[in-house]
Amino acid sequence: RTPRGLPLRVQDLRKEFGGITAVDGASFSVEKGSLTGLIGPNGAGKSTTFNCIAGVHQPTSGHVYFQGQDITGYRPHQVANRGLMRTFQIARELEEMTVLENMMLAPRGQRGESLTYSVFPGLRGQVVTQEEDLREKAWETLELFEIDHLASEYAGNLSGGQRKLLEMARVLMADPEMVLLDEPLAGVNPTLEHKLLERIHALREEGLTFLLVEHDMDIIMQNCEHIIVMHQGQVLAEGDADTIRNDDRVIDAYLGE
Ligand code: ADP
Ligand code: MG
Repeated sequence: RTPRGLPLRVQDLRKEFGGITAVDGASFSVEKGSLTGLIGPNGAGKSTTFNCIAGVHQPTSGHVYFQGQDITGYRPHQVANRGLMRTFQIARELEEMTVLENMMLAPRGQRGESLTYSVFPGLRGQVVTQEEDLREKAWETLELFEIDHLASEYAGNLSGGQRKLLEMARVLMADPEMVLLDEPLAGVNPTLEHKLLERIHALREEGLTFLLVEHDMDIIMQNCEHIIVMHQGQVLAEGDADTIRNDDRVIDAYLGE
């Protein structure tokens, strides 16, 4: 159903909350190894779409396919076990633990070797089950995000931007195939923002797939090769930055905000 090269396909997705239709028949797909942007004015249905994909909400109707499998109605942990993960804010309990402890406690992948090993060639061929291996992987991931110097710092003491880096790093401990990012750059200073985007691009080169919701239009336009625009629960337009920038319907949708 979902051709290879299309890890995610959303088909006729609909989600109603009581009398409110938050998502109204949205269909789109995301290519493997892409950084795809999902944009739209406030209330367009972006977060609800994300939550339906991640299993947080049960869609009213429609389908979500991941790597050819119908995952509609899966629980969040089932979706995550398939390799489709979203970032989580650091929970309060974890703020009282160090950055390294946060990494060690991150959910783990259950699917054996995957592309993370090509980003961390030192770990290739190892099954990360032993404490030592896990620790090494945690360190390498912290190095990738350049927050290894904060390993012994309490997570609660990190700046907003450093927290975002840790949130991303934690997700990578599980060897995801695809990562859903809902406003990962909110409150992040330009230096860290640049760092995070650079890491996302590097991981994308390795075949990891990202779907990014972000308010800052410049970030989306400059970083996403494919952009999906939602409006009133539907997909209004799709294409590259130039296509979206010049689409009158998109301009009207944002002017009406
Ligand atoms: P976006 O993320 O694009 O701003 P949302 O998906 O958050 O949009 O919301 C889409 C619409 O659905 C809005 O009108 C919002 O008020 C409504 N909505 C979202 N979540 C709920 C909910 N849990 N209960 C009722 N209405 C909701
Ligand atoms: Mg939202």
